[in-house]
Amino acid sequence: MKIANVRLLGEGEPVDIEVSDGLIAAIEPSTPSEPALIALPGLVDLHTHLREPGREDAETVRTGSMAAAKGGYTCVHAMANTDPVADTAGVVEQVWRLGREAGFCDVQPVGAVTVGLAGERLAELGAMADSVARVRVFSDDGKCVSDAVLMRRALEYVKAFDGVVAQHAQEPRLTEGAQMNEGPLSGELGLTGWPAVAEEAIIARDVLLADHVGSRLHVCHLSTRGSVEIIRWAKGRGINVTAEVTPHHLLLTDDLVRSYDPIYKVNPPLRSADDVEAVREGLADGTIDIVATDHAPHPMEDKECEWDAAAFGMLGLETALSIVQQTMVDTGRLTWSQVAECMSAKPAEIGRVAGHGRPLAVGEPANVVVYDPTATHVVDPTDTASLSRNTPYGGLKLPGRVVATYLRGKATHD
Ligand SMILES: [Zn+2]
Repeated sequence: MKIANVRLLGEGEPVDIEVSDGLIAAIEPSTPSEPALIALPGLVDLHTHLREPGREDAETVRTGSMAAAKGGYTCVHAMANTDPVADTAGVVEQVWRLGREAGFCDVQPVGAVTVGLAGERLAELGAMADSVARVRVFSDDGKCVSDAVLMRRALEYVKAFDGVVAQHAQEPRLTEGAQMNEGPLSGELGLTGWPAVAEEAIIARDVLLADHVGSRLHVCHLSTRGSVEIIRWAKGRGINVTAEVTPHHLLLTDDLVRSYDPIYKVNPPLRSADDVEAVREGLADGTIDIVATDHAPHPMEDKECEWDAAAFGMLGLETALSIVQQTMVDTGRLTWSQVAECMSAKPAEIGRVAGHGRPLAVGEPANVVVYDPTATHVVDPTDTASLSRNTPYGGLKLPGRVVATYLRGKATHD
């Protein structure tokens, strides 16, 4: 099998990638007949909601991993807030197995930090780590591990197997009933505000805890200028913390909430234009390590209702690379090589997944996405592999197109 006429990481002369037995067997100069596409290592998402088990009306492991392949991903981490919660070896092994059976990308389950995400006692972290799913990322995502003692214990516990706690930073008391970013607009629209400090206070506490116990901390979907500043400070002190930003927080602002359209309702909420500028700067200078989608499918009836009653979350897998191109590459803030770092190499490293996020080189697994940055497309919410339709980009013209995705040499999208 041959992936013909691509420029590796968007640089240099066009090449052909020869694939055999799932590995890159040779990389040779190509004799181009048309403009070369670019090849990136298969993308790795550290933050996906696949909804199975429990909400198979919203998404399944199969449909979610098809959407991932369409978006250029070869590995996704499936969040634990399913029903039942992924808080035992049994559930994480089930999700892992469903992913392998579907075969569109490697599904790496995230284990819950606390039993039932209830925030009361630690889940069986060791049993999940030792299971066939080899869980290394633990998160109560959707909820915050707000109890400082539990958070400290979790950070101490995961050290034994080189795991990481991925925190959904949301101080619960400061966000009771919160609906949108707190600011002049929340007052004007009469929606309960979600203050930046509710995110920043937890991040500040957690970097100090991680420093205190000498453990690894990952911060999910950071969204405010203050959060970027805290992570910058922590990294400057040598604290072992990594952080992610979502494509929607790189592009969209809270001004969209004026429409009262719950398609824009998300957790954490869309923030101000100044926050968007800060997260772009943070990603460009390496303060923010990775882009993670927080792909959150919801059925129509949970989104097409009044703002206060609607579910939080938006789709993200199929549009992530285009949004990153628009906000970071086309603006001159990142090269394609840096995109490969923050959407493939670093998320694989944080999640400790083998065989992903590797360089495009002979002998490496043939996990490859072929991308056309010169194309444009208008997002059609019905044209998706996901079971859900809640994309905030419907009707929007975006740059780029994923041409093909290969998982160990097998085309999972073409
Ligand atoms: Zn979250």
